[in-house]
Amino acid sequence: MDKITIIVPCYNEAEVIDLFYPAVQEHVAKIDDCRFDYVFVNDGSRDETLDKLRALSAAHDDVTYISLSRNFGKESAMMAGIDYATGDAVIIMDADLQHPPSSIAEMVKWWRAGYDDVCGKRIDRAGETWLKRSCANLFYAVMKKFSTSYEMQRDVGDFRLLDRRCIEALKLMRENQRFTKGLFTWVGYRKKEIPFEVQPRAAGATTWNYFALFNLAMKGMTSFTTAPLRLMTFLGVMISFGAMAYMLFVLTMALLYGDPVAGYPTLITVMLFLGGIQILSLGIIGEYIGQIFHETKHRPIYLVDEIDGKRMIYKPQLQPIERNTIKGD
Ligand code: UDP
Ligand code: MG
Repeated sequence: MDKITIIVPCYNEAEVIDLFYPAVQEHVAKIDDCRFDYVFVNDGSRDETLDKLRALSAAHDDVTYISLSRNFGKESAMMAGIDYATGDAVIIMDADLQHPPSSIAEMVKWWRAGYDDVCGKRIDRAGETWLKRSCANLFYAVMKKFSTSYEMQRDVGDFRLLDRRCIEALKLMRENQRFTKGLFTWVGYRKKEIPFEVQPRAAGATTWNYFALFNLAMKGMTSFTTAPLRLMTFLGVMISFGAMAYMLFVLTMALLYGDPVAGYPTLITVMLFLGGIQILSLGIIGEYIGQIFHETKHRPIYLVDEIDGKRMIYKPQLQPIERNTIKGD
């Protein structure tokens, strides 16, 4: 008998939680020889999500909930789910039923056929605005150009089934600035993409906006490639060569023809151009320093406040333990 844990990150999802459980149950009940359980992660919701989860886990033995101490973001919430999942595989799903539970059977089928990472690939981006689609296109194009070691999967998100091998590998990566999509690709193993259509939200509102998307894209880039830094070096070299060539040109003009090249317009153009490049380079370096700043603190990815009604506390191992408990030779 296989056991699969369904991980559901929830942020202000009080309206959909009661719809989610029966909708998924209806589909997973039909899958043979497989037991499902659920890990709901309450990511510091401000509405009644936690109360709903308490009620749900009291009513069903197969439901566990983990409530984080505040809102840590979906990436961290997913990591909490992964840390506490006990199944032979996990399926990560959004709480808002945008990921169709009807795809689960197909995911399980491919998993049993030997794939470790069965990911849902969106076959429509129709519900999205032109701007959002263009931004996505640009992001994938840039990432593809820059990350040479592996290829980022297109139109593939967090909706996926992961074998325990992938889960254990993901647990090794305790970085703070998590770009999960890239991490899934980074761990490798056998991947299979299955098509699915993103459903309209069952209820509630999305928490995403363009600013959040931009931040995610920046995080994706800075945590998976240092190519922008290389690009800046390259640009610096090119501009220096350009400047040298231009200097020669000006000198020649002045010496041979006594022609003083128009000063003010050229000066201002070159100054503004170089100023722009300098600020951009500083910004890019800053992004990477920011990453280093966040990572060197080695803070935990999330803090747990409550698990299934029990209030949790962290006990850092700072107290000495008895010498005899660790024996030398
Ligand atoms: N989510 C979360 N923490 C956050 C934001 C979102 O756990 O800080 C969860 C949310 O509850 C949902 C999933 O991540 O289950 C996707 O969020 P949403 O539906 O808002 O994003 P979209 O589907 O529009 O990309
Ligand atoms: Mg959604």
